[in-house]
Amino acid sequence: MTSTVSGMTTSAAAPTGPEGAIAGDGAVTDRLVEANQRYAAEFSDPGMDARPVLRVAVVACMDARLDLHKALGLQLGDCHTIRNAGGVVTDDVIRSLTISQRALGTRSIVLIHHTGCGMESITEEFRHELELEVGQRPAWPVEAFRDVDQDVRQSMQRVRTSPFLLHTQDVRGFVFDVKTGRLREIDPA
Ligand SMILES: [Zn+2]
Repeated sequence: MTSTVSGMTTSAAAPTGPEGAIAGDGAVTDRLVEANQRYAAEFSDPGMDARPVLRVAVVACMDARLDLHKALGLQLGDCHTIRNAGGVVTDDVIRSLTISQRALGTRSIVLIHHTGCGMESITEEFRHELELEVGQRPAWPVEAFRDVDQDVRQSMQRVRTSPFLLHTQDVRGFVFDVKTGRLREIDPA
């Protein structure tokens, strides 16, 4: 997540300015749909079933600078990718991991946070501001953090202690450096 939360705005208004000129008018989506037509023209059925070839699930931040497949040498069909703001292990991530392991055969879990995450620049106060603006407090915690290493450790701990998962022996956590492209492994201790 790369959000610039200066001023802590919680407004849903579309951005303005040069780079915001196309936001919200459908032009971006049109471009994606056109790209898909080119993709589909070259596409051939890989003949795979839904079970990831490498039997691994990757939980990562949604940050636009993190190309998971390229960064990890992954090919189509290799893994499950589960992404959200911060790469936080929420109940919904546990839901996906549980299905990944119990229904689709994955055994390993890789957790990836990254340098310069937008979650480091907001606080739980974000919820309070939302409540003031819309009159309703969100049910979900923001899951903001200050120390990325510690947040990776907490995520590993949440996975390892989940009663729903079948396989928690191979759980490893990393911080991806958006400047160098390198992963740094985090010691779970
Ligand atoms: Zn992030």
